[in-house]
Parts: sequence; structure tokens; C-alpha cells
Amino acid sequence: MKKELKLYNTLSRTKEIFIPIEPDIVKIYTCGPTVYNYAHIGNLRSYIFPDILKKLLKFLGYNVKHIINITDVGHLTSDSDSGDDKVEKEAMKQGKSAWEISRFFANAFIEDIKLLNIELPYKFTYATDYINEQIKMVKILEEKGYTYKTEDGIYFDTSKFSEYGKLARLDLEGLEEGIRVDIKDKKNKTDFALWKFTPKKQKRQMEWESPWGKGFPGWHIECSAMIFAELGSHIDIHTGGTDHIPVHHTNEIAQAECTSGEKFVNYWLHGAFLVLDKNQRMGKSEGNFIGLRELVKQNFLPMSFRYLALNTHYRHFLTFSLDILKSTQNAYLNLKKLIKSEFDREVETDVSEVSIFDKLILDALLDDLNTPKAIGLIWEMLQDKNINKNDKINIIRKYDNILSLNLLDFSDLEKKEIKIPDEVIQLAQKRWNEKLNKNFEEADNIRKVIFEKGFEIRDFKDKYEIYPIKTYKV
Ligand code: AMP
Ligand code: ZN
Repeated sequence: MKKELKLYNTLSRTKEIFIPIEPDIVKIYTCGPTVYNYAHIGNLRSYIFPDILKKLLKFLGYNVKHIINITDVGHLTSDSDSGDDKVEKEAMKQGKSAWEISRFFANAFIEDIKLLNIELPYKFTYATDYINEQIKMVKILEEKGYTYKTEDGIYFDTSKFSEYGKLARLDLEGLEEGIRVDIKDKKNKTDFALWKFTPKKQKRQMEWESPWGKGFPGWHIECSAMIFAELGSHIDIHTGGTDHIPVHHTNEIAQAECTSGEKFVNYWLHGAFLVLDKNQRMGKSEGNFIGLRELVKQNFLPMSFRYLALNTHYRHFLTFSLDILKSTQNAYLNLKKLIKSEFDREVETDVSEVSIFDKLILDALLDDLNTPKAIGLIWEMLQDKNINKNDKINIIRKYDNILSLNLLDFSDLEKKEIKIPDEVIQLAQKRWNEKLNKNFEEADNIRKVIFEKGFEIRDFKDKYEIYPIKTYKV
């Protein structure tokens, strides 16, 4: 008999006891990043809570099948199905192919989540690898009468799905009355593109033949089609950021439930935004973002960011500033110093009330992943004189399998500022000049010398940056 886990389900707006569809396996899908830029730390926050969830489920004895997708096509600059494809737009800007751009940023995303100790999913699914599945789903929807054709694509008619908007509790009548935006030839404001035609006289880099003409899939259809292909038409848990509730996830439900005729997802979990001063959302479009790499360059530990994220409940805004992160890093290192000091303690007590903490920490996690409470209890336990040191260490080991904060790795306690030596700065400049003069062999040789000195060069379009390997590869 497994322990009872409670999760807040956006669908019912209540905490519910988790009951899996099949007794021992839990199927989870997490909406992945749109890969036209580096993920920012707000995006990354949205992958930390599913990681806790997954590790907790495994701890409870479930097998977990988890998918994260990579949106490498179809996400347009406007949610109302107009504007440019974000990946193609960035490719034009950088003078590269859309494929190069999307693979580069997908790999960068995977590196970032590894640095944050986020366990890799069973599979990353790339939208462009599932074009046939997406076309198949649109065809089923067409046969069932849910679609119509406009000048620029095949659209889903939301008025045909009586439960449309149930996740976001959309007031559809209010929405219709309040229409001010240009809906072009859409029938309803909430209708969305399933398949977009390549605009006339245009050649896209990413385009495919379909029964309706050359084009590319809409953004929402990719997730539904990949879920059907990899996990089936009915899954346990779907996660994402709260911005996905009113449009993306609402549309995923419509497509999926109209295709299969059954319930799509049992539990919808949404993480709140990482915000800056005055609750301003960090966003790629807002242009106010910072990535994990920038933090690492400023000598922050990726684990300090994870610790910051876990100290706020995933359903609450997480306020970020460099000052907050500095004090968080201190707190994180202090916690580890405290743990380390346990190993050196001589006096042992036989009395040990550790089972109380063991229960309380687990209860906190079982209560909709209350990580701030669990971390608070760890601090409290460490300061409790009535607990045997071995018991303390065992509890830390046990729960760090879920929190994944490297709490028993003390190597970063000696972390010192890493300064880039003048010699390396000069070598890097020399290498850049060689590269500009197309002396690539010499440039490569200098790169190797720099690497041996403990630094790595990363080239951008018209600049380079020097990273200390030790801080980058934590
Ligand atoms: P995107 O790359 O825009 O598709 O977003 C990837 C994930 O990051 C999605 O789950 C978004 O909901 C989430 N997200 C975007 N901005 C933020 C933010 N400021 N805080 C937390 N999550 C975010
Ligand atoms: Zn999605």
C-alpha cells in the first residue's frame, strides 16, 4: 500500500488524492521549451517541480514514464495564430538554418537542466519528429467535423466542443462579446490553428506536405499528438507554467478529447511564474531574462538556484534578484556547513527522535510537494540536540534523493572566486584574431592551450566569452 500523495489539480482547483490510472505506473507529460533562445531561469523553474514530483513518485514505489517535448516548430510570436514562427525568425536573424537554431538551443536546454540536477525524462520528443502523427490527428478531427478551412490554415471550431475552456474556466460568452482583436476569418475568437499553410510566395525552411497543402502544424497540436504517440490518449499528469492554462492547455484538451472521445489528463499541475521586482514576469518576449549560464559566470552555483526555487512553493510567485540569490547561496552553503559539522561531532546521544522528522518531512512533500516546509524541517532537525548524528545524516541522504541539492557533497564549500588570469585573457584575444584571419588551425591550438589552463572559450556571432571550466562543469 503506497503512501497517500495529494496534488493540486488546476482542473478542480482543489488538492486531490493522487490515484494512478494503472496501479504501478505514472505517465507524466511536461510542456518543453520553444527552442529559439536559451531557457531563462523562469522557464527552468517550471522543470524543477515536475522533477520533485517524479522523484517523489519513484520514492513511493511507482514507475514513472515522463516525456518532455521540444517545440522546434509552429510556436508563433502571437498566441492568436499570427506573426512569425519564433524559430524561423531567429534563424533569419542569425543567418543560420532553423534546424541549426533549434538543435543548438535544445542541447543548451538539456545542459541547463542537467546542471540543475533535473533528471532527464524517459524521452525528449521533438515536434518535427512527429509531423505524421500531428497530421493524422488533424485528419481525425476533420472527419469528426471539428475543423474548418480558412485562407491561412485548418482551424479547430471551439464552439463544437461543449466543454471548451473547462480548465481555465473561460467565460466564453464574455469573451465573444468583448471581441476587439482581429479574428480574420476565424469563426470564434477562441478557435485555433491545427495546420498553417506556408504563406503564398514564401518558402519556409520547415514545411511539410499534408492533405490540405504545404505547411506546418499549429503549436498546440504537437503536444496532444506526441502524448498520444508516446503515452496514450489518457495520461495521469500534465505539467507546465500557469501561462499555458487559458490557451495552450485549453486547446490541448479540446483536440485530444475530441479525437479520442475520452478524458485526456487526470491531474493538471501548473507552476507559478518567476518574477522580478513588482511581480513582473520574467519572459523571453519581455526581454528581461537571465539564464543559468549568466548566473554561473557570476560565480553562482546552479544548486543555489535550485535551493531558491525549492524554498518557495511551486504554486507561488518566486521573486528573483541577484541580491536574493546571493543570500540564498549563503544560506545553502551554511546548511551544508551545518551538515558537514555533524560528521565531526564527537558527543553522541542515544536518544533519537528522528522518526518524528522523518514523518514530518515526508508529509510535507506528500502535501502537494511542499518543499519549503521540508527544507525548514531539515534545518530544524539539524539543530536538534536530541537526535543522533547518524540518524540525521541518514535522513538527509534519504530526502536529498528527492530534493537533489547535493547536500552531502561538500566540495563547493571551498569554492573561491575564480579570476581569469591575464595570460588567458591575452591568449583568448590572440585566438580570436587568428580566427578572424581564418587561421583556424592556429586558433584551435590556442583554444587547447586555454582549455589546459582550465578555461573554455565559447564563440558567439561577433564576440567570444571565457568560462572557467571548474565553475561551468560543476
Ligand atoms: P516556452 O519556452 O515559452 O514555451 O516556455 C517553457 C516553459 O516555461 C513553459 O512551461 C512556460 O509556462 C514556462 N515559463 C515561461 N516563463 C516563465 C516564468 N517567468 N516563470 C516560470 N515559468 C515560466
Ligand atoms: Zn504543450
